[in-house]
Amino acid sequence: MGLLTGKTALVTGSTSGIGLGIAKCLAVEGANIVMNGFGDVDAAKAEIAATGVQVAYHGADMSKPAEIEAMMAFAAEKFGRVDVLVNNAGIQHVANIEDFPVERWDAVIAINLTSAFHATRLALPAMKAANWGRIINVSSAHGLVASAQKSAYVAAKHGLVGLTKVTALETATTGVTCNAICPGWVLTPLVQKQVDAKAAALGISNDEAKKLLLGEKEPSMQFTTPEELGGLAVFFCGPAGNNVRGVAWNMDGGWVAQ
Ligand code: NAD
Repeated sequence: MGLLTGKTALVTGSTSGIGLGIAKCLAVEGANIVMNGFGDVDAAKAEIAATGVQVAYHGADMSKPAEIEAMMAFAAEKFGRVDVLVNNAGIQHVANIEDFPVERWDAVIAINLTSAFHATRLALPAMKAANWGRIINVSSAHGLVASAQKSAYVAAKHGLVGLTKVTALETATTGVTCNAICPGWVLTPLVQKQVDAKAAALGISNDEAKKLLLGEKEPSMQFTTPEELGGLAVFFCGPAGNNVRGVAWNMDGGWVAQ
């Protein structure tokens, strides 16, 4: 019997990278999983189903509030309610502020920040009624410190840390907790794009570009893995996490310790 047997976890953006890794760790603990995201849905679903739990998928575009409402209603209909909500879907765009496309700013804020507000407001009533719930917001080291050319992302991720604190305060006397995870570099498709851009811009190899990226920010010179982040999510869900409220926990190889 796992820590989360009989419970349901909804992980946004769980068809790839960190979301998929967290979903897998929650499934190993017995949670039924509602997946969301784009790309190779069948392969991602098969990875989760291999753990033996029930898996459902909803293709809501997290930039669209009506689709988020439909996804939350679908999860409630399928499994009764959402016990663990992981707000993970996210995108990146890199440009100086004066060149930042307005449409990209709006998309980054909608997907990385506003979607978490919508999913949280829709998940909370059932969690409060059951007096148990876990809301885990996947922020970033960029929720704690900034980098140039990432205005929308840094604003959204700092905003997500703020939303985490408010959610934790509004649930402080209940069995619902809300915390944020702040990863440093994780080698997912989102970061591989930045590695590729660096390799192309500087005419260097993929490995050299990875070392440069790590060297700029991450003293450990190691990528954090989705499985390590999943382990932290499991900790937040366990009994030792009962009174952990409103933290923004960095797993970043020393990035923000500098
Ligand atoms: P990824 O590109 O591998 O995965 C992103 C996921 O979000 C995918 O499942 C994708 O389909 C989904 N997604 C994107 N737009 C969506 C939309 N409009 N609606 C629904 N789903 C959508 O990226 P990742 O690195 O795994 O990133 C996951 C989260 O972790 C993001 O919030 C990201 O900001 C955060 N993060 C990543 C890193 C890193 O180094 N990779 C570091 C810190 C934080």
